[in-house]
Amino acid sequence: MTAKAVDDVAPAVPELETIVSLAKRRGFVYPSSDIYGGINAVWDYGPLGVELKNNVKRAWWKAMVQERDDIVGLDAGILMHPQVWITSGHVGSFSDPLVECQTDHRRFRLDELPGAENLTATDIRDPTIVQRLGLTCPVDGGPLSAPRRFNLMFKTFMGPVEDDAAVIYLRPETAQGSYVNFKNVQQSSRKKLPFGIAQIGKSFRNEISPGNFVFRMREFEQMEMQYFVRPDDAARIFEEWLPRRWDWYTHYGVAPARLRFREHAPDELAHYAKKAIDVEYRFPFGWKELEGIHNRGDFDLSRHQAESGANLEYFDPATEEHFIPWIVETAGGPDRAAFTFLIDSYREEDVRGETRVSLALHPDLAPYKVAVLPLLKKRPEIVELCHRLLKDLKQDLMAVYDDTAAIGKLYRRQDEIGTPWCVTVDVDSLEDLAATIRDRDSMTQERVPIEGVKRAILDRMAAARA
Ligand code: ATP
Repeated sequence: MTAKAVDDVAPAVPELETIVSLAKRRGFVYPSSDIYGGINAVWDYGPLGVELKNNVKRAWWKAMVQERDDIVGLDAGILMHPQVWITSGHVGSFSDPLVECQTDHRRFRLDELPGAENLTATDIRDPTIVQRLGLTCPVDGGPLSAPRRFNLMFKTFMGPVEDDAAVIYLRPETAQGSYVNFKNVQQSSRKKLPFGIAQIGKSFRNEISPGNFVFRMREFEQMEMQYFVRPDDAARIFEEWLPRRWDWYTHYGVAPARLRFREHAPDELAHYAKKAIDVEYRFPFGWKELEGIHNRGDFDLSRHQAESGANLEYFDPATEEHFIPWIVETAGGPDRAAFTFLIDSYREEDVRGETRVSLALHPDLAPYKVAVLPLLKKRPEIVELCHRLLKDLKQDLMAVYDDTAAIGKLYRRQDEIGTPWCVTVDVDSLEDLAATIRDRDSMTQERVPIEGVKRAILDRMAAARA
């Protein structure tokens, strides 16, 4: 009871629908194939969503690759040799427990049924669990089958012959691309342990019960980093990654009160894992994984070495030892991260009797950094000045022009999509060659010479990064 009360932080937004409708209305995220009624668990990022998600990926790359000497990037193929997924254990055991309703034949993931959310991993493997807990179909109340394992990998065929020999998989994680390239990367970049390989890219999982908008999709992206270490350093280095990953989310604006670490219980650990801790976020639908940090031991490289015959040992010239490195992994995704930043930045406040909605996004994440707005669109000189300023800003920043409403409405539109600054050009600007910079969060305004506007915006962005 006490533990629950401590964990019961209110979500930033009570109703998920608030974010879903804003996302669709303003062009962040649309259902895929919308005109055909959509396709379950695939979402398309619109003009603002693609900017936000790209900014999230850039922010991750900056923290994980650009600012570090010990991590390099990789972009491996989505399609890989099918043996990779046998060696990794995915063909044998990358599965979720599926139960089927005997009357309407709907299928559910066992641990997402009402009343089964807190099952232990041992419970999930128990074939009598459905009877033991008296679980029934949440839709029509019908009886449910015993759980069976359902493999989550998508299969397809490579080449012109569709037979068993041509079966390959769409990768369900990016990590394996880093393991099979361990030697290539280590030798070509001449890295010494400890060092890491970072990757961002699409992964595919045939999730049994996708949902909660972009939280669980069948096609999604991952941002994963595999850090190769000496075995005796793994436990310490694992602990070092925890605050780094926590700080990344809080630096970009997530309230610490809505984050927590959750360690996997021994019976919940994946077959390869020595230790696993999730960074969880308090979504409107509960505490859920945002990112996993895993000590994977030597499982990955020793399995690939055994099955491929390639030597994946590392030679340490200092100690003259040959050994298989252990791996500490940080495994997150830009979809869940972007979703979290959207939710956590959402603000509603009363301003002079009206509700002002804004996204207090970190400037590095905001789709547009600045909007250029004319106070009077009927004055061609003002519009021309705006366009000159816009063109200059666009050399360095995502900037946008809008003159399709009165200024109050233009501000509200930009607030709602998280644009940190609006620059307004008015009649006086023609005389004093200055414009007004209005701040999204404080709503304060500052008059700045037009030629100094870009510098002022870039300075404010740099200040937000500090
Ligand atoms: P879950 O328990 O939520 O299914 P997982 O433990 O299987 O997640 P990992 O295999 O550790 O997740 O994947 C790493 C990260 O990839 C997750 O933390 C998440 O950010 C992202 N991810 C995984 N599956 C999905 C999905 N179906 N849709 C969107 N993002 C996902």
